[in-house]
Amino acid sequence: MAAAESEQDPSSPSGEFLSFSARDTAQRWLAASDLKQEVYRHLALYVPRILCQGTGGRDSREEQREELGCQLLLLAPLEWFLLGAEPGAGLAHLQQNNRPSALCGHVFKVGEPTYSCRECAADPTCVLCMTCFLGSVHKEHRYRMTTSGGGGFCDCGDTEAWKSSPFCQTHLPDGGEAPEDPVSQLSPDLVARGYSLFSILLKYAVDLLTGDQQDQQDRQDRLPEGLEPPERADTYFCMLFNDEVHTYEQVIYTLQKAVSCSQREAVSFATTVDRDGRKSVRYGDFQFCDQAKSVIVRNTGRQSKPLRVQVMHSSVVAHQSFALKALSWLGGIIQYSDGLRRILCQVGLQKGEGENSTLVDHLMLNDSKMWKGARNVYHQLLMNSLLMDLKFKKIFAIQFAKNYRRLQTDFMEDDHERLVSVTSLSVQLFTVPTMARMLMVDQDLMGTIIRTFVDQLRHRDLQGRFQFDRYTAQQAFRFQRVQNLIGDLKYVLMSPPDQWTDPLRIKFLEGLDAFLDLLRCMQGMDPVVRQVGQHIEMEPEWEAAFTLQMKLSPVISMIQDWCRSDPEVVLVQAYRKVLSMLSQSSGGLPDGEQPLSLVLAGHQVETFRYQVSQERVSIHLPLCRLLAGLHVLLSRTEVATRFPEQLPLGELAPPLLMELPLRCLVLCAQVHAGMWRRNGFSLINQIYYYHNVKCRVEMFDKDIVMLQAGASMMDPNHFLMIVLSRFELFHVFSSADARKRYRDNKDLVQQNTLIEEMLHLIIMVIGERYVAGIGQVQPLDEVRREIIHQLSIRPMAHSELLKALPENGNKETGLERVIDSVASFKKPGVTGRGLYELRPEWNKHFNLYFHHYSRADQSKAEEAQRKSRRQNGEDTALPPPPPPPLCHLLGSLVNLLQCDVLLALEGAVLQWSVEPGGGSWTESMLQRVLHLVAMALLEEQQQLENRCGEEDVTFSYTCKITRPGEAPSSSGSILALLESLQNAPHLEVHKDMITWILKTVGTIKTIRERTSTSSTFTVSQGAGPEETGRDRDKAERKRKAEMARLRREKIMAQMSEMQKHFINENKDLFQQSLEEMEASTSAAEYSSPSSALTCASKVCVGPRRVGGADLRQLVTCILCQEEQEVRGAGKAMVLAAFVQRSTVLSRNHTCTPEPGRDPVFMHPDLPVGVHTASCGHIMHATCWQRYFEAVQVKEQRRQQRLRGNTSYDVENGEFLCPLCECLSNTVIPLLPHLATPGHSPDPPSLEAWLQTTSQLIAALHTCRKTPEGELEGAEPVPEGFRLDFSPHRPFSSSISEMITTFSLAVFKVGLKVEPDEQDGRVPVVGWSTCAFSIQSIERLLLDEDKPLFGSLPCRQDDCLSSLVRFGSACWTSVPQNTVYTHFSRLLAVLVPDRRVENSPCILNLDMFHLLVYSVLSYSSLHSLDQSGRSSVDVGHLHLLHLVTVAHLVQVLLTCSTGEVCMDQDGGGSEEEQLTLQLYCFLRKHLSSLPDVSPWQLWSRVKAGILPFLRAAALFFHYLNSAAPPADLVAGPGQWESLCSFLSLPPNLLLLYQTHQDLLDPLVLSWIQHPGVPPLLRGGIQHPGVAPLLPGGRVTRFPRESNRLIELPEDYSVLINQASSFTCPRSGGDKSRAPTLCLVCGAMLCSQSYCCQTEVDGEDVGACTAHTFTCGAGVGLFLRVRESQVLFVAGKTKGCFYPPPYLDDYGETDQGLKRGNPLHLCPDRYRKMERLWRQHGIPEVIGHAQEANQTLVAIDWQHL
Ligand SMILES: [Zn+2]
Ligand SMILES: [Zn+2]
Ligand SMILES: [Zn+2]
Ligand SMILES: [Zn+2]
Ligand SMILES: [Zn+2]
Ligand SMILES: [Zn+2]
Ligand SMILES: [Zn+2]
Repeated sequence: MAAAESEQDPSSPSGEFLSFSARDTAQRWLAASDLKQEVYRHLALYVPRILCQGTGGRDSREEQREELGCQLLLLAPLEWFLLGAEPGAGLAHLQQNNRPSALCGHVFKVGEPTYSCRECAADPTCVLCMTCFLGSVHKEHRYRMTTSGGGGFCDCGDTEAWKSSPFCQTHLPDGGEAPEDPVSQLSPDLVARGYSLFSILLKYAVDLLTGDQQDQQDRQDRLPEGLEPPERADTYFCMLFNDEVHTYEQVIYTLQKAVSCSQREAVSFATTVDRDGRKSVRYGDFQFCDQAKSVIVRNTGRQSKPLRVQVMHSSVVAHQSFALKALSWLGGIIQYSDGLRRILCQVGLQKGEGENSTLVDHLMLNDSKMWKGARNVYHQLLMNSLLMDLKFKKIFAIQFAKNYRRLQTDFMEDDHERLVSVTSLSVQLFTVPTMARMLMVDQDLMGTIIRTFVDQLRHRDLQGRFQFDRYTAQQAFRFQRVQNLIGDLKYVLMSPPDQWTDPLRIKFLEGLDAFLDLLRCMQGMDPVVRQVGQHIEMEPEWEAAFTLQMKLSPVISMIQDWCRSDPEVVLVQAYRKVLSMLSQSSGGLPDGEQPLSLVLAGHQVETFRYQVSQERVSIHLPLCRLLAGLHVLLSRTEVATRFPEQLPLGELAPPLLMELPLRCLVLCAQVHAGMWRRNGFSLINQIYYYHNVKCRVEMFDKDIVMLQAGASMMDPNHFLMIVLSRFELFHVFSSADARKRYRDNKDLVQQNTLIEEMLHLIIMVIGERYVAGIGQVQPLDEVRREIIHQLSIRPMAHSELLKALPENGNKETGLERVIDSVASFKKPGVTGRGLYELRPEWNKHFNLYFHHYSRADQSKAEEAQRKSRRQNGEDTALPPPPPPPLCHLLGSLVNLLQCDVLLALEGAVLQWSVEPGGGSWTESMLQRVLHLVAMALLEEQQQLENRCGEEDVTFSYTCKITRPGEAPSSSGSILALLESLQNAPHLEVHKDMITWILKTVGTIKTIRERTSTSSTFTVSQGAGPEETGRDRDKAERKRKAEMARLRREKIMAQMSEMQKHFINENKDLFQQSLEEMEASTSAAEYSSPSSALTCASKVCVGPRRVGGADLRQLVTCILCQEEQEVRGAGKAMVLAAFVQRSTVLSRNHTCTPEPGRDPVFMHPDLPVGVHTASCGHIMHATCWQRYFEAVQVKEQRRQQRLRGNTSYDVENGEFLCPLCECLSNTVIPLLPHLATPGHSPDPPSLEAWLQTTSQLIAALHTCRKTPEGELEGAEPVPEGFRLDFSPHRPFSSSISEMITTFSLAVFKVGLKVEPDEQDGRVPVVGWSTCAFSIQSIERLLLDEDKPLFGSLPCRQDDCLSSLVRFGSACWTSVPQNTVYTHFSRLLAVLVPDRRVENSPCILNLDMFHLLVYSVLSYSSLHSLDQSGRSSVDVGHLHLLHLVTVAHLVQVLLTCSTGEVCMDQDGGGSEEEQLTLQLYCFLRKHLSSLPDVSPWQLWSRVKAGILPFLRAAALFFHYLNSAAPPADLVAGPGQWESLCSFLSLPPNLLLLYQTHQDLLDPLVLSWIQHPGVPPLLRGGIQHPGVAPLLPGGRVTRFPRESNRLIELPEDYSVLINQASSFTCPRSGGDKSRAPTLCLVCGAMLCSQSYCCQTEVDGEDVGACTAHTFTCGAGVGLFLRVRESQVLFVAGKTKGCFYPPPYLDDYGETDQGLKRGNPLHLCPDRYRKMERLWRQHGIPEVIGHAQEANQTLVAIDWQHL
């Protein structure tokens, strides 16, 4: 850097600014014969002088200078030349005459919200910017909101992107068409200048950015001809380029070494390299730079490819950066005129010699060689120019498609993310349907994409199938990139054409050929062979194949959609193609081998010899499945119903077609039966995905379809025999005595499962008819059925339902269109989410064997259904729902139900079931058979009911089941078997179902008889006795059920009794939120003491108070369960507690009080307080100490074993409460109640008391120890006092020790210092936590309109009471002198004392803190009184009076608001008059006070002082254990009762008036404090007075409550706000994780290197750093992009919390994945706010981390 300074004269360009004239230069250019030469000469001269002077450490002034030079010397002449006029005016003129096209074209920034209309968008890639969206009709539609990943633009105005309403209000065309050729609107001169200038500039930029690729080595030193600098200095840059291989840390480390820069500079370099793609890290002569280069290469080249570094000449770098500026300039200029835009497009796409000779081609083809920043600039230009001009967009698209293969190959070699690759423009071109079709026809786009894709997957096995070996990271990376091609294919196929042309048909079918080639490579890939004997050694690779399948699934579906839209030609042709491809590739089926002949139930069939359990089988059968899909489509055509013989089904061999899918289904069954255990997890995963919603549409579902198709074209008996044979079950049913089961079979269990699976498969083949083309259904019926079955399991949230449904190409499931017809919505409360519940009328559509149920789903649904039926008093039979009729082509499927083989199966299973137990049959088996029987009966019944005329019904199941079984096992008919099973005791569960079957048989008989004999009498006969029998049964069952229920309840009750360990219970409670805990309030506690006292005597302070000393406190230690009384001399008992610093009461979020501050005086803004909370659990001090030591030891051991954190920091004294696991960091000692006051005959008056006290203080001040140890004072000691008196310690040593423990803990946390017993501030911080905790609770109660007493939960009540009693005893554990000093300083604020210096003015004091401190320290002073004439209570009361008067004055001084005085007439009450009197006294001395009416004054005073009085009441209540009056317990609390409780007159002014003579001089001294006038003026504080707060704002009373910031109702407002937020540290760069502080509203750049700061010697992220200034270490944030709330406490702790934003379905969207519009839920936000104000954040974090250990491992401090 030193070299740079010596070489350059920084003033030289500035001098030129003055003499240079852009206009003259432009004139010269106009006159020049060779414009290019002139312009180049200018650039060659100026560019290196203006740009890129030096490196690193550039300040913003230098940048500004560069910017200015660039504008004035380089760009201005261009503008003058182009416009032929002064640029400003010229551009305005251009814009005026422009007739812009209707396109919005707004290019999205990263993180900006985008909107897509789910009703009107042509596809999900069509989006609107926020402005357009808000001005469009779509905001009333169902829309989706996402955040942009950057790139892409607003589609407003593109008629092809929207099915309706393509324009927003702004972009609505105003009638007049945009001119055909916008260039014709410009003057010919301008056009000519535009052409020539644009050509020169664009060529210049392209040359510099793409360089000469032939000699890479030289490139950095070569400039295009005509640009060589006049003199060539030895100045170089060492340029570092970005790659995706090296990590941030590696780069930072290397840079520090190579260019010896600081860590911070290195971070900055690395950040820029990551953002812009390159950054010069060193500037100087060649040698200097080359040296750095070699260090970097050496350091990074060891493990991997080294970082890319180049030493470049400074002039080249300068021209390159100007090239980018020129491109941006071009992009800006063409915004003013569509004509100029068109000219630029023409220049860019002007053909030179040969292929790819246009400038745009040059750019595109060199894309992967450019650095990120350059790519971004020219991509942006392409979007602003070519993509905005419809004519040239088309030409560009053709060029793009022509170069497609090369661009993609380049991209594959490149390691940059796709977002910065030119290939990502495909979404802009291919999603326009007309464009996509044009490219398909002219450029064979579909085929090109597919072939490019296939070429990239090179590994094949011997059969030519894809082979994915071990999946290395590099392969995965490559594979990921290849998948983008499938994305492009999806764009092209997104919308099927409405109009087919012959060329399109030809090209589509050609494309299909290519696609079938691709599928053929997948057919049969990753085959598996069953492992017997031993486990597989290595899990085979399976993920790649499934990823491929998953990615291709939507494409396969789209191809089917295309085929469907042209059924006569394309569909039939496609069907033929698939069929022939399938027969070519089915080499896996062995022919020529001796077929196997099967005979069963009098039928015979021949089939392959093949066993799934022995030979290779594959799950990947995309060809078969595509054929199945097309078959269904054919079935939907008209031809299928009218002339099925015309369909291309002739060559089909049904057994051959269904063979492979059947094998796959058998494989699943065998895996299920445990036959493939040794094949490991890879197979289990594959089977899982096969059924999973992401894959099943093009896998499992299609296999079922294929079986249905096969079965419909075959003899049903043959079909079933082949199925039996593939399941390897044929022998079970074919043997002569099939109805007997051999029990010695060792694989019986396995075989049983296989039988169950096979029966299930048969049920599905016959019963699954909800695909249009199989059954006669509407498309939405399928979705509806899916939803019904999901909701039959349990009520579900919207997102759960969505996850269970497959998405189509448009990411739609159709859920919203049917959900309301089948389900009712239940709104969520403050927690949880909204749920959909199935309407009961849809229960009858429940099918237990729904094909998408997993076994777990099935049993859950079965249970739920049975339960609901029982509740409704119905029987529990779950018969199949009536199925929709089959389509014509598959009509013969029903015959399966009544074919001989199936009847034989049914008979066998029923026969086995006669015998109970034994394992030869299973309940599921029987259940499935009953289901099949029921299906058959339903079919027969339907046919009978629907027949028209006298035609015969062919279906005669009832007739067939009455036939006796086959010989030789002549064991009765199926019907007879059913009848005998009906009452079998071991089949109780199935009884209802069998009854249902028998009843239906009866009904069918009746129908048949009725039609044959026309008599209807038989119906009701026979039913009678059966009915009554059933009624009896039902009653009996009900009784049993009731008894069972009672028994269960009893057991439950016993269990919960026994549940001693209530941690879990408590956790639940906790999750139900804190406020519910509060419901269990301690109001009851007051009943006992208060009932003993009369209402009149309820006073909490002063000699008239009634104490609670006679109350005995018995507590139980949670650790040893021992009971113990709390006594001063007894064993110490402690309360687990958590102390934290808090800014919750402060409205000022910018100050950080320094650790060394003086805590004696609290500023009225309460900037940082110390809050103490407790879970209320009590232990022996000794028990706790032992527990804590154990925790410490455990932690040490744990740290040795495994590194990592716990949810609590033992080193900082943190632990979890042993009972409730609440985070704690110290314990509060429990102390007994104070003694009841001794009633002194005549308590001293205020005056006398003040005098005595002052005298005493004076004496203490001057006294010192004589060498003999005697005390001697210069001042007289008041009568009855003994200075050398040392009070006896009232507490046992264990209690004293605990007092010290707690004092030091509070001291350490409160002041952030190391504990020091000698520090005089120790007792003060102890008092301050009493005051602050009371204040914060008082504020919460007030804001929530809760009564002051009786509404606190026990734990808070116990905590405050022990805190205050601790406070009152604090002085006993510190040197007396310290306490005297504190007291004298406190008193000096109110009663001037010349010995005390720097007393703050009363406007800078919180009076409640003053009161608490002085009362608590007074005891120490009072202990010297040996006269026995006055009690400590007298002092308390006088202190209260004095502070109250001071507060009155404080309120009066600050109550002026400048509002207009509303003169309230009338005599004015006594209060008003007295207030006025005091106010007049103040005004007399402070003329700046405004005139305020007495009525207003009094009301202000009353409101202003109320919080103080309430807090004081709480304080004295706890201090003196005084019971509160009834109306403060229950109601809102009357002013009068509050005052009387505090022993104050309701007219507080009387306090002043009765002692006016005494008080006037005091008041005068207060207001004459030098600090008062400037504060009242709102100005700067007096220099002599130490400011407690910067800024010197005056606090007014009552203080406003602190709230979290207001959030907008619509979440997208936040997203928008965050998208324009730039990182404050890295020069206008977009922040990646913008995070909003909910306390102060600051937006932060979180989770990023750029914004890390050092706090206490550690680098922390922006959020953590912010909490230290804003929240004393605790923070609440909203991570805007993630829609997630972040809680942080301290440096290591944090958790995520659900955001207060919900979608219309009552769900949050953490991570913004679903994109439903989100709205603020005020209740949830308020709940969060309360949590914060209750100081509950650390506790929530603690519990969250305990519940989820992974949260502990997160580096919260880096967020
Ligand atoms: Zn827009
Ligand atoms: Zn618009
Ligand atoms: Zn719409
Ligand atoms: Zn104990
Ligand atoms: Zn606890
Ligand atoms: Zn903040
Ligand atoms: Zn940042």
